[in-house]
Amino acid sequence: MRPHKSAEVLPSLHDEPDWPGRILRGTPVLLAYLDSELRFRFANETHRTWLGLDPERLLGRRVVDVIGERNYQRAGAALEKALAGHMSCYEGELFNGSERRYVHGNFQPDFDADGKACGVFTALVDITERRTLELRLHESEQRFFGAFQHAAIGMALTHPDGHFMRVNAAVCQMLGYSEDELLKLNIADITHPDDLAADLELLSQLSAGQRDSYQLEKRNFHKNGHVVHIQLSVSAVRNAQGAPLYFVSQAQDVTERKAFEAALYRERELAEVTLRSIGDAVITTDPRLRVTSLNPIAEAMTGWTSTEAQGKLIEEVFQLFDAQHGTTVSNPLRAAIEHNAIVDLASRTLLRHRHGFDTPVEDSSAPIHDNAGSVIGGVLVFHDVSETRALALKMIHLTQHDTLTGLPNRSQLDGLVGQALMTAARRQQRCAVLYIDIDNFKQINELYGHGDGDRVLRALAAQIRRGLPGDEVLCRYGGDEFVVVLPHLKSVGEAASVCQTLIAQCEQTSVAGLPELALRVSIGISVYPDDAGEPKSLLQHAETAMVAAKAQGQHGYRSFTASMNERALARRRIETALRQALPRHELSLLYQPKVAADTGRIVGAEALLRWYVNGRELYTPDQFIPVAEDSGLILPIGAWVLRQACKQARLWQQLGQPMPVSVNVSPLQFQHADFYSWLDDVLSESGIDPGLLELELTERMVMSGDATTGLLRRIRQRGVRLSLDDFGTGYCSLSYLKHFPIDALKIDRAFVRDLTTDPDTATITTAIIAMARSLNKVVVAEGVETREQGDFLRQAGCSQLQGFLYGVPMPAAALEQLIVAAG
Ligand code: C2E
Ligand code: MG
Ligand code: MG
Repeated sequence: MRPHKSAEVLPSLHDEPDWPGRILRGTPVLLAYLDSELRFRFANETHRTWLGLDPERLLGRRVVDVIGERNYQRAGAALEKALAGHMSCYEGELFNGSERRYVHGNFQPDFDADGKACGVFTALVDITERRTLELRLHESEQRFFGAFQHAAIGMALTHPDGHFMRVNAAVCQMLGYSEDELLKLNIADITHPDDLAADLELLSQLSAGQRDSYQLEKRNFHKNGHVVHIQLSVSAVRNAQGAPLYFVSQAQDVTERKAFEAALYRERELAEVTLRSIGDAVITTDPRLRVTSLNPIAEAMTGWTSTEAQGKLIEEVFQLFDAQHGTTVSNPLRAAIEHNAIVDLASRTLLRHRHGFDTPVEDSSAPIHDNAGSVIGGVLVFHDVSETRALALKMIHLTQHDTLTGLPNRSQLDGLVGQALMTAARRQQRCAVLYIDIDNFKQINELYGHGDGDRVLRALAAQIRRGLPGDEVLCRYGGDEFVVVLPHLKSVGEAASVCQTLIAQCEQTSVAGLPELALRVSIGISVYPDDAGEPKSLLQHAETAMVAAKAQGQHGYRSFTASMNERALARRRIETALRQALPRHELSLLYQPKVAADTGRIVGAEALLRWYVNGRELYTPDQFIPVAEDSGLILPIGAWVLRQACKQARLWQQLGQPMPVSVNVSPLQFQHADFYSWLDDVLSESGIDPGLLELELTERMVMSGDATTGLLRRIRQRGVRLSLDDFGTGYCSLSYLKHFPIDALKIDRAFVRDLTTDPDTATITTAIIAMARSLNKVVVAEGVETREQGDFLRQAGCSQLQGFLYGVPMPAAALEQLIVAAG
């Protein structure tokens, strides 16, 4: 055939002689005509190859005879249907005489003039090859979907619009839905709202072809509402143009692993907290006996900070001596790790502090194992067995807890908030601090007296606790101030709703015997990490927000905002003004008398700094001294105070009324390399008897650093007296006190305040006084306001008393008059 251009130029095949005959013979379809008795009346040539029979020999034979009874059972019904006048078809096996084939047949009735079927046109196509392929495909599909359906891992196909196209049994089980239910859902319907954005973003990158696959740990919701943590892995199947047809996701349920991790965190946190708050000293090491950590008590007892000690050999940090012979005792932890057993220390062993003094200790050492049982480190637990230990522990509890409510007090709060921040940071969550202050609490005190005021505070603390969702940290921060730490916050709104509950709860506070109180509180909220990253600022911001809530009309709550940061501004204002204070002669010293407990005679005075501008006290020392310390201004100011106090002492000496003067020294001054030479200069310059000068230091200053003990000795040798201020508020225990060259101890105001109302405080204070006296220290009580307190302290053995009862801080001249008046 020549190539043709259009139909018109081609000769019609119909015109060719026997063209239909050629088609009938050549067509690859078995064509036949059966009469009303289903006898072959026509069969085309194709039958020859298929049946292996001459088609001529078929004519006149019945179909059933040609193809056999078995074949006829399969296809006969369709043929009979066609004979009944209905088009029909058959698809299935057919035996062609030598093998089984697969065919598709169409049967068309032939109607006579009356419209009665008188025969059947049959067309049969052999589709064996296609059928085999189909079967194979089906089988492989079955195999694939079998694997898909029964995979232990969750598998899903999703449409680019997020709808599920197919999900396997594991996914259904994981999420609690049936397959049909899931196929009606979208990814967004089952994804935790906080994880949706990340998932969609990755999905869109995948769609855009920016990545081939992605992995994500996310939270889905189970049908019954609980969260299922899954580890997801998604890839795309694309069309030829690269556009995604669908996504293949694999999901593994990691909820258990998550819970396990969370439990591990909790356990670790618990261990951390326990270690920090435990009454015993704890040192841990690696298997080669190099120190890995010290808890605060171990720090105090060895003189090493945890950071300094890290990596040092245990023997360097934990030095042991025999109490009787003074010989070195081998370290029990070494034996414990070598023999893989718990080893206790022989009695009468002394621990040598870094500064050279010894404490009797009891110790137990043990190897630490991993879960395979190998030794991965060691732990040493020890405690002071001197008789002061019990007292020291009680003191720690007393200084860390509020005696009125039993709640942790301010001294612990930084640590507690710090822990909450660490946890939140680790979990990438928020946490919040609520600062609660009672509105007009003063009125309650004035109306009902302090005793009932205390009962109201106790009742309020209980109400706050009741209003908290769980066992959140609750502290008494000060007089009528409480602080709550909400350790994990799902949203900022959650803090607000806790505040609403608390406000309502506080309103319900009632105390037997008092009329309805209708207590109103104001609450400030600050949130980590939004408002601040460390405990101090977080607390300050919460307080600032509380002040703002009060300013707004009380009885409500407010969240911190940066513009509220008045406090920071105020500090900056103080600092700016303070720089001018010295050159402008705005600073002056007042003197508060100290009296002998037995005679009541004035035996000394404490110099206290004041800041007057135009005759008015602008800021109290509690306000401006912290600013001076932070800004370094305390150095020139402190030097001025020292010189001024010495000048005054010399004046009194010259007047023939020598009067010992105490001066408060700030840590920053004390740590300054030139401190001693300053002091020396001031002493020489003023020419006073050095015995008339006393320096007031704090526990922390005395406890810290190697150089301290040496410096204390030098100052002492120069003839200057040393006293420990605010005793009982730090963690210095009496057993160490004897090693420091200190002359006097000032019992903190807080102890004196509670003496006559709290039996515990009374016991402790009496014990402190007795022990200090046995160590030959002068004991001074500060903040004595009532005769009762004075009497108690005198009887307990205090040698000197200071407080408003005996004289407020006053100008030097006023103090002179007081002495003269006393005769
Ligand atoms: P501090 O050394 O413990 O001083 C005693 C404080 O208690 C003084 O407060 C004093 O006024 C107050 N006080 C005395 N008797 C009573 C009483 O019976 N009841 C009550 N409630 N309080 C009483 P002040 O003068 O406001 O000083 C506060 C703190 O400021 C001092 O505490 C001290 O740490 C520091 N400070 C004062 N002057 C200086 C100074 O020149 N240099 C340094 N570095 N710090 C100073
Ligand atoms: Mg003082
Ligand atoms: Mg004090």
